[in-house]
Amino acid sequence: MEISKEVLQIAEILKQNGHQAYLVGGCLRDLIMEREPNDWDVATDAKPDVLLELFPDSVYENEFGTVGVKTESTDPKLKVIEVTTFRVEEAYTDKRRPDKVHFTKKIEDDLSRRDFTMNALALSLTQSDAEILDPYGGLADIQAQIIRAVRDPHERFSEDALRLMRAVRFSAQLGFKIEKGTESALAKHAPLLAGVSQERIRDELTKLVMSSEATEGIRHMVSTDLLKYVIPELLEGVNCEQNKHHIYDVFEHNLKSLEYSVNQNYSLVVRLASLLHDVGKPATRRWKSDPRGAKQQDGKAGDWTFYGHQVVGAKISKKILQRLKYSKEIIERASLLVREHMFVYDPEVVTLAGVRRLRARVGDENLEDLIKVREADRIGSGVPKAQPYRLRYLQAMLEKVKTDPISPKMLAIDGGALMTELGIQPGPRLGHIIAGLLESVLEDPNQNTKDNLLSLAKTLNNLSDKELEQIRAKGKEKAEATQEYIDEEIKKKYFVT
Ligand code: ATP
Ligand code: MG
Repeated sequence: MEISKEVLQIAEILKQNGHQAYLVGGCLRDLIMEREPNDWDVATDAKPDVLLELFPDSVYENEFGTVGVKTESTDPKLKVIEVTTFRVEEAYTDKRRPDKVHFTKKIEDDLSRRDFTMNALALSLTQSDAEILDPYGGLADIQAQIIRAVRDPHERFSEDALRLMRAVRFSAQLGFKIEKGTESALAKHAPLLAGVSQERIRDELTKLVMSSEATEGIRHMVSTDLLKYVIPELLEGVNCEQNKHHIYDVFEHNLKSLEYSVNQNYSLVVRLASLLHDVGKPATRRWKSDPRGAKQQDGKAGDWTFYGHQVVGAKISKKILQRLKYSKEIIERASLLVREHMFVYDPEVVTLAGVRRLRARVGDENLEDLIKVREADRIGSGVPKAQPYRLRYLQAMLEKVKTDPISPKMLAIDGGALMTELGIQPGPRLGHIIAGLLESVLEDPNQNTKDNLLSLAKTLNNLSDKELEQIRAKGKEKAEATQEYIDEEIKKKYFVT
């Protein structure tokens, strides 16, 4: 692995102007480990105002004097290189960010404020034959695969509690062990995470979830108490026993589902949805007595039910992801996957109309992800095959209805024409009529002709507002009731959940 030419060019300009330049932080660690760096960081004695002059195409990145130097590279990791003036940080009274930053002339001072020994290395880019500066034994720790706080872990974590998350994230990402003293400081300082901004926590959580040891990482967040301050909702699933088709409690099942998504190298959205898919189960768990039930409660046979857990789970997921300040797109897509993960795919009950409705609810762009989450769900409950015959059958059905109309804009008559023909204005009434037309087209795509829809629209338009509303509400109710009924039937027949 080589130092990128963009970084070397920046160092050359600094050198020509009498300044020092060092490669620092994660990129040096990654180069030593022969991993591809995630981003490139340069440290220098030149002050930010000097940097802005030397590099006309640069901008202040943050309030601590980091300057982003734009390069000509098209590689997203090299487009902007962060150049930071050597600095020492002072008191962190709010546990979020240092109150003050002091610039310093010495790289050694700068290294002393860094989080872990493996991240406190520096390599001069302006001296020839330079050796790696390693004041805290970072090279040996990388060799031994150990994450160790620079100097006193308690001080480091109380200065900036994000470092708690970083320790666990690096451990999952690099497969390193956390040194004993550092590890025991994690649980002690976990409550400080409450004061760290959600955006910073989110970025670390994302890196953890995207790492190959994500499941271990989440377990580690449990054993160090960090999860309590990041996604406490997941902890409700610990010891939450499930029905007879599950060997794991709800928490373990969510984790096992995540594990499958990680092993399949699925996207962030699918991983988050897998982790959260049953987060609504603890709140919806009810005991159902049944003489044939497999479990016992107070001497009576029965089993646990979780009706509506997907809907409750979608709401909880949304709340969690909003709190963590994920993008609107991620929030919407992940919570949609949670809400729809119980979709029916049993050959004996699934109908073409049902599959069209699934497409309409989920959107074609999310169908593949939804199937992935369902696979993760199945594997996560200990069922051996990810895509049994039934799931493949559904995919074949989806293929069949691929070009069928499923949204208002695919109707053979548009809103404008309807308003003219019926002589009505935009508003709820028009909405109800369009919903009615779509219903009939979802049921039978052959209905989708202009004449046909127009005559249906005219019939609907003869009804009162109230009647129209009732029809729409009934349709919705029916769809939901059918789903519950089908769920029950499937469970009885096939022992799937
Ligand atoms: P990544 O692979 O995610 O980029 P990284 O170690 O490079 O990991 P960055 O966030 O890019 O992490 O930060 C670069 C360097 O800045 C770190 O290696 C570390 O030396 C220092 N650093 C970053 N965040 C902190 C922090 N919260 N406390 C102390 N030092 C930090
Ligand atoms: Mg980095």
